Amino acid sequence: MADLEQQPYLRPGVAGATLTVDLGALRSNYLKLNDLCGAAECAAAVKGDAYGTGVARVVETLSEAGCKTFFVAQLSEAVHVRAALPQAIIYVLNGLVFAEAGSYADMRLRPVLGTVEEIAEWSQFCEAIGKRLPAAVHVDTGINRLGLTQREVETLSSAPELAAGFDWALTMSHLACADDPAHPMNSEQLARFNALRDQLPKTEASLANSGGTLIDKAYHYDLVRPGVALYGGNPSPPEPNPMQPVVRLDSLVLQVREVAAGSTVGYGAKWRAQRPSKIAVVPIGYYDGYFRSLFDTHADDQAGVCIEGQFAPLAGRVSMDMITVDVTDIAGESVQRGTKVEIIGPNISVDDVARWAGTIPYEVLTALGSRYARVYVN
Ligand SMILES: *Cc1c(COP(=O)(O)O)cnc(C)c1O
Repeated sequence: MADLEQQPYLRPGVAGATLTVDLGALRSNYLKLNDLCGAAECAAAVKGDAYGTGVARVVETLSEAGCKTFFVAQLSEAVHVRAALPQAIIYVLNGLVFAEAGSYADMRLRPVLGTVEEIAEWSQFCEAIGKRLPAAVHVDTGINRLGLTQREVETLSSAPELAAGFDWALTMSHLACADDPAHPMNSEQLARFNALRDQLPKTEASLANSGGTLIDKAYHYDLVRPGVALYGGNPSPPEPNPMQPVVRLDSLVLQVREVAAGSTVGYGAKWRAQRPSKIAVVPIGYYDGYFRSLFDTHADDQAGVCIEGQFAPLAGRVSMDMITVDVTDIAGESVQRGTKVEIIGPNISVDDVARWAGTIPYEVLTALGSRYARVYVN
């Protein structure tokens, strides 16, 4: 994470690009989701450095907005949340790392236990230290990634002593197709979750990510765990995005060059000028999370940037440290060294960049680079 105090050359106008994270928009998105889930608690998924936006500032903001429970993927990520929020409830989605139970206890973290083996290990650890520490239990309802299988649920219901040593605070599962509200898998997983819960101790329950939170209140249970929607990603893409954009990314023109008709631009000579052209060179590349797959001369839906509100398509392949864009049609003589270039912002959404690159907004956000100036606004 770039920190302005630590790195004087990672400041706006000097760094190749400036990432602006709108904490006010983050707060509004949280409040909107919190409103939507009614009596259920609205937690937050903050794994992957809060989807690339910077976990420390994000969890502070969410906490001020009323969020009490946070989900990270790994123990290393939980450390940052705990440092920022001494009182928060922190779940570690990837479960209990072998022989690390003591670390969870020291940092008051709750593992999301996904196998009978993990359950037994946590239970025995708690018995050994004489404290019934809380944890969640993850049951699989069809995604087949983490979580107890049907058989493991049966094992556990016939041998409840396996889980007797700890405080079973939450039973959760995860939806595979929540970004598509009409997908039949959603209601299948809901039914399966209810059936599995019937065989287990009565605890609080959680099923919904961002998409699940928007499908229907049947998916809310006691706690929802949105991630991408907090950061402005569209939770159900065919529909218009109800969330506010949180991230904006701006760069600056390094130089503008005149290119003769017939000349090519960039690696592989993949772009050829059809007319005398003006090409702006912009210092952001695949090292910065601006994917190489964004350049595809055959797509009708071409990737590009915005300069003074006007679209400029990529001209040539994305390099490690720069892109080249066609500014021939940008009105006026105004594009020059230092002109501001919108990579993501009011005209180009995270979802646009994801679509152009053939990926999802999650990957665009979590790939955001480390050599940006980072600015937090409210
Ligand atoms: C990442 C994750 C979430 C949040 O998902 P979004 O689709 O970003 O809302 C919720 N639950 C689990 C188990 C996750 O891994």
